[in-house]
Amino acid sequence: MRRLLPTLFTLTLLVTLGYFLYPYLKNAARVAQLWRASPPTAGSLEHPLPGQRFSDTWGAARGNGRRHEGVDIFAPRGTPVHATTRGMVIRVGENTLGGHTVMVMGPAGYRHYYAHLDRPSGLSPGSWLKAGDVIGVVGSSGNARGTPPHLHYGVYRPSGEAVNPYSLLRRGEAPDGTGPPGLRPTRGDLGHMPRSPG
Ligand SMILES: [Zn+2]
Repeated sequence: MRRLLPTLFTLTLLVTLGYFLYPYLKNAARVAQLWRASPPTAGSLEHPLPGQRFSDTWGAARGNGRRHEGVDIFAPRGTPVHATTRGMVIRVGENTLGGHTVMVMGPAGYRHYYAHLDRPSGLSPGSWLKAGDVIGVVGSSGNARGTPPHLHYGVYRPSGEAVNPYSLLRRGEAPDGTGPPGLRPTRGDLGHMPRSPG
């Protein structure tokens, strides 16, 4: 009996620990699986705003010597923004440049950044998404205030280096990447673009 009690105690402790740790272990395995998956390739990412045409605005000059680290896709305010890839939400919040934003960790640890959403997304860190899931709606929050509503979409390598999402996105549009004049941001429109978007 003197030996049995400590053994029972240890067993109970292990079972209790296992019970509470299981969700974390399960999530860790899922994260590991996500990291082992292949990185995005040309045309492999779903369009976040299906049907909206956009041009390659990667690298365009912005204020303070900054370069545009993403693409801007214009759409009416309130248009649902879809996840371009499966993954886990790792950050949700508001910042000066991006306004209401969502950061998703996708296959191979690439991070996908959605900015200028109209309002907080309602997602929370740790939630898992499928490609196409709605993560928020188009707006002009952050430094896009006063500009036509658009989504700023950025892709980052695990090292933090930004990559051009333009060719990674499946566009389903004219091969030249231009759209009808009404939707296409012209050079003049770009003059209204945020000086240093997030
Ligand atoms: Zn932008």
